[in-house]
Amino acid sequence: MKYVDEFRDGELARRLADRIAAAVRPGRTYRFMEFCGGHTHAISRYGVAELLPPQVRMIHGPGCPVCVLPIGRIDQAIALALDRGVILATYGDVLRVPASPRPGDARGEPLSLLKAKARGADVRMVYSVADALALARANPDREVVFLAIGFETTTPPTALALQQAAREDLPNFSVLSCHVLTPSAITHILEAAEVRAWGTVPIDGFVGPAHVSVVIGSRPYEHFAEEYRKPVVIAGFEPLDVMQAILMLVRQVDEGRAEVENEFTRAVTRDGNAAAQSVVAAVFELRPSFEWRGLGEVPYSALRIRPAYARWDAERRFALAYRPVPDHKGCECGAILRGVKTPVDCKLFGTVCAPATPMGSCMVSSEGACAAHYSYGRFRDAGARAGAGVPATA
Ligand code: SF4
Repeated sequence: MKYVDEFRDGELARRLADRIAAAVRPGRTYRFMEFCGGHTHAISRYGVAELLPPQVRMIHGPGCPVCVLPIGRIDQAIALALDRGVILATYGDVLRVPASPRPGDARGEPLSLLKAKARGADVRMVYSVADALALARANPDREVVFLAIGFETTTPPTALALQQAAREDLPNFSVLSCHVLTPSAITHILEAAEVRAWGTVPIDGFVGPAHVSVVIGSRPYEHFAEEYRKPVVIAGFEPLDVMQAILMLVRQVDEGRAEVENEFTRAVTRDGNAAAQSVVAAVFELRPSFEWRGLGEVPYSALRIRPAYARWDAERRFALAYRPVPDHKGCECGAILRGVKTPVDCKLFGTVCAPATPMGSCMVSSEGACAAHYSYGRFRDAGARAGAGVPATA
């Protein structure tokens, strides 16, 4: 398949690994954060970490949209479905994220949208926001709420759907917007005092997101490179993309450069997709603050619906208030999303917490660090820990 197979070539991967090994300086450590869950998945699935020299450590970032969605937002959606009788539509992975127990539930069992469905809520899995619009048209006597999550990649389709709902004057459709922004999260990791207080790891550079950057372009990352002296290399999601980006980051570090470089030139430009940016700007505005799982309240890191589209804004329509909720006590998702811990540092990993029985959001989506480790790396990790006490590095 063009643009896929050639980026998964084993022989080229070995050659790239040799070049990375030749480029790293003895005695120096290189810590690179792959912000995006797509890269985390590729690194685990294709064994990229095993091809790297020991001086290069990849740190998972908070770029899995399902993982960073805080419990309080899922609680809002569950309450809409169970208490307000709406049809709650969202993407499949979101349905399984554990949320709070139902108030008054003596067993204290954490609900999820899927478990709410088992208790009679009308929760529907959809593949796109267009499916949710179709649900609203097909059920004119029911309220249909789309729980919208994701980074800059999934925001333009939600904006288009809201414009379409306005054009049709659709009275029973609304969106609970949980769309978040990549650059603000990276800035928060680098500078927020509360994140530093919880613990962070030193980061020498970032593998920049692929799909997000198709929309926003490479320009927004120039700020980190200049302000924080951190190199950024935007990379595609195939294993050779990631390895080439790591080589480019190693070279920047060695040469004392902190620049934005674009490995994913087949899809990303400096200015991104102007049409997508324009539709998002027409429908959404910045929230002053938004809670992220693992990062806490992050200023100007998410989007809310503009007043012009208030009729289709579920938060206004149902007068929703937000209540922050702490994570499950034993779950280390927060520390993993900040790059401080790895999945195998969690005592629940692979025991009570597995993809079929997730205790935290990082075990739900295939882009989540725990799910990726469970699917592709847990046996290697277990062996390493048992054999030599070596900490997991991916
Ligand atoms: S293994 Fe499960 S409980 Fe532990 S951090 Fe990951 S998602 Fe949370």
